[in-house]
Amino acid sequence: MNFLEERIAKDGVVKEGNVLKVDSFLNHQMDIELFDEMGAEFKRRFANENINKILTIEASGIGIACIAAMHFHVPVVFAKKSQSVNLDGEMYVAEVESFTHKCKNQVIVSKKFLSPDDHVLIIDDFLANGYALQGLISIVHEAGATVEGIGIAVEKGFQIGGQVIRNLGYHLESLAIVESMDPAAGTVNFREQD
Ligand code: 5GP
Repeated sequence: MNFLEERIAKDGVVKEGNVLKVDSFLNHQMDIELFDEMGAEFKRRFANENINKILTIEASGIGIACIAAMHFHVPVVFAKKSQSVNLDGEMYVAEVESFTHKCKNQVIVSKKFLSPDDHVLIIDDFLANGYALQGLISIVHEAGATVEGIGIAVEKGFQIGGQVIRNLGYHLESLAIVESMDPAAGTVNFREQD
């Protein structure tokens, strides 16, 4: 097991409905030294990509993206979520279904902060069905920018998102891939990675 898998095995809580709670170190209280290790690992895995910007989505992606950005020495842009958006031609907008909140959000990024010159690493905390990622990818494309890679902390490999995103040809790296979880036993099994 790698450092993140070990931490999930130790402190993650398996809930009903395919939800993994990691709020003691990732989603609510944040272990910044762990984030730093994650940032270093993203840098190692995307060493060959030419990245000048990190894009994430509020709220849980922001902390991870910011610490990762210290390793890439690039700025972070986070997509904002809003129920009602005043479309005034200044924003990129995508519609995203929320796995945890079971509702639809618009995610928005100001046109000031993404342009065709940008080579973007997308970072998020979880990958489940891939809706959040697809929203971010569509915003990058709308801006005429390039998705150089996608870095995820925890991928739930038994949900469809990872397969969809890899089949689209993106360089997706997930630090931990959960193969299965058992809420009764509270156990998490991980996919072997190289
Ligand atoms: P997706 O859009 O891939 O279906 O879901 C990804 C988003 O849903 C992530 O940004 C994350 O906030 C949330 N999410 C999905 N599954 C889980 C989970 O098992 N645990 C937690 N804490 N968040 C999740």
